[in-house]
Amino acid sequence: GSISAKSEVDVLIVGAGPAGLMMATWMSHCGVNARIVDKRGTKIFNGQADGLQCRTLEIFDSFGFGHRAWDESNHMLEICLWNPDANGIIQRSDRIPDTIPGISRFQQVVLHQGRIERFFLDSIESKSGMRVERGVLPTKLEFDESSAEDPNAYPITVTLRHLSEEEATPKQSATSANGAALSDGLYRSNMTPDDTNELIMQAELNKKANNEEIVKAKYMLGADGAHSWVRNQLGFKLEGESTDYIWGVLDIIPITDFPDIRMRCAIHSANSGSVMVIPRENKLVRLYIQLTTTEKGAGTKFDRSKITPEDILQSAQRIMAPYKIAYRYCDWWTAYQIGQRVGTQFSARERIFLAGDAVHTHSPKAGQGMNVSMQDAYNLGWKVASVVKGISDRSVLKTYQSERRRIAQDLIEFDHKFSRLFSGRPAKDVMDEEGISMEGFKEAFEKGNMFASGIAVNYGASVIVAKKGDAAEQGDGSDVAVKKKALQINSNQSLATNVKLGMRMPSFKVLNQSDARPSHFQELLKSNGRWRVIIFPGDISIPQQADRLANLGNRLAAPDSFLRRYTPSEARYDSVFELLAVHAAPRQKTTIFDFPEAFRPYDVRDGWDYWKIFVDDQSYHEGHGQIYQNYGIDRQEGCAVILRPDQYVSYVGSMDDYEAIDKFFSAFMIPQRSSHPKGAVSVPNGILK
Ligand code: FAD
Repeated sequence: GSISAKSEVDVLIVGAGPAGLMMATWMSHCGVNARIVDKRGTKIFNGQADGLQCRTLEIFDSFGFGHRAWDESNHMLEICLWNPDANGIIQRSDRIPDTIPGISRFQQVVLHQGRIERFFLDSIESKSGMRVERGVLPTKLEFDESSAEDPNAYPITVTLRHLSEEEATPKQSATSANGAALSDGLYRSNMTPDDTNELIMQAELNKKANNEEIVKAKYMLGADGAHSWVRNQLGFKLEGESTDYIWGVLDIIPITDFPDIRMRCAIHSANSGSVMVIPRENKLVRLYIQLTTTEKGAGTKFDRSKITPEDILQSAQRIMAPYKIAYRYCDWWTAYQIGQRVGTQFSARERIFLAGDAVHTHSPKAGQGMNVSMQDAYNLGWKVASVVKGISDRSVLKTYQSERRRIAQDLIEFDHKFSRLFSGRPAKDVMDEEGISMEGFKEAFEKGNMFASGIAVNYGASVIVAKKGDAAEQGDGSDVAVKKKALQINSNQSLATNVKLGMRMPSFKVLNQSDARPSHFQELLKSNGRWRVIIFPGDISIPQQADRLANLGNRLAAPDSFLRRYTPSEARYDSVFELLAVHAAPRQKTTIFDFPEAFRPYDVRDGWDYWKIFVDDQSYHEGHGQIYQNYGIDRQEGCAVILRPDQYVSYVGSMDDYEAIDKFFSAFMIPQRSSHPKGAVSVPNGILK
């Protein structure tokens, strides 16, 4: 093919699965110039991953499409455990909540990946007009490492090949028993050999004019799945084992007398294996079944062409007997082999990153892959955006690997334990050492639920998490210089015992001071790349607290405050930092004018900003959020909290310790040209005064 074009882009994303789309969403919500390409000609329409954990829904909500997933999905509220009784007949032995009550304002839901990808695509396009470029495949990658630290360099050069429609369409293998075409996910399963090289070769042969272009990029993300071409180009490896469990997955509308078919169930039969039942949207139910175990190390690859939807159903029938299960409609099916591996490196010089299945693979049943993949890119996106925009220096990028590799390792460990417990045969009695104890299974399930929710994520000390870090907490990939910088300031966790450093900000209801409208605190924390400094001044009707607030306001308003130093002169006053206050004085005895102007910025055209000051008080219709009590903050003392743009807690300290907050940001932010961001000016004389 002939080279038709040369161009530059700040961020190039390869792969438009959940991880790539999350990255593209950040780029469009932060206004970064980016492109996203995928070798497939179309998006997927059904099947594939389906479980959305509560943390993922919180993230969707922060981008503005949480309600779409919440409304369309099936909500999973209860897990039923079924085990063989003394006679070997399955019976329900336990019921446990699917999502631990109280950990989030969302609960686990199920909706197929095609719909989830649709929400992303709509959000990306409406924000920035960016679209996935489909049928586009990178064929060559060059990386000039020597200019990796130069902020203005484009060290990455990629050749992109535009495929024909035929080349970009995945082959489908099966038809159903009645001869109708049935969509399967085999081409995307980790058991299928990757076809990237084949596609490259085909495209070489097809020497159409103008089908190749060269792109120079500042940053790149390989979100191209388990077979990652980007990872292979970098020569990076995944470490771990490919275990011998093979799973069949069947999406059907079941016809059954099994009473718990609309609950999530783990069913262990006495001798016929286990099935996981996942009730889904549109009357569908997904069955995950372990099909076979090959001898470990025997090297025999299971022949997946031998697996049919009928085989999977028959296994389910044996496990669920004496209950009957059949179907007239099958929506999708696949076969899946558990490989548990983690990448050793998540980036090349913090310029080319890997996320999602490209750096970790594991079994599908715990419903983690898609969630963790999206959360990788959620962790990375705002960091890359802030560096590209010249707000932060490159030190923040190092935290991607130190934060996410440990999560991937925890995930593999969790999956390992869980798979063994799920796939094993139930113990007949306490003497049966080969069998799995059902008590142990229940315990693991309950513990696993906290991990699986995504809420337990706790990032270690770094330049962007001001907590005391020990080696264990750091995870690997940590950087001594980064650690040293972070320890210059100390948090005081005791001022907000439930606003845990390194974890995501929990949510309770607050009222807007100006209009009394209640909202969940998390709803205020939109994903738009802004840092949040949240001042909890306590009860400001106490004179001492009012004085502390006034003093803090003076510091924040000073021409050399961090708010001014790090906000570009042409940008809006809250484009880098959003300053929020949540006070605890009676709402009806307070107005926004009891607050210094830094908390109610004034814009010449719009007047004061009424959406920065909130109160912990009784609402008319939705009760009292008791946010001070729930966060563990003293109403007489207050505190200050710094939140990252991804809502993780960076710092907790005294409400008026301006110096510490300034120091925190000074460790990684880049001073901007002018010290007067637009809008953050004092009220001109004569107006309203
Ligand atoms: P992928 O989704 O694999 O996306 C990679 C993208 O990159 C694809 O669009 C692909 O076309 C493209 N691509 C690949 N190579 C190239 C290339 N060379 N050039 C250009 N583009 C390329 N996870 C859950 O969280 N919950 C579940 O319930 C769940 N169930 C699952 C059930 C099954 C049957 C399977 C197979 C997986 C399941 N998973 C589940 C896992 C989940 O699907 C994956 O973890 C998730 O899709 C990973 O997202 P990703 O974006 O990293 O990669």
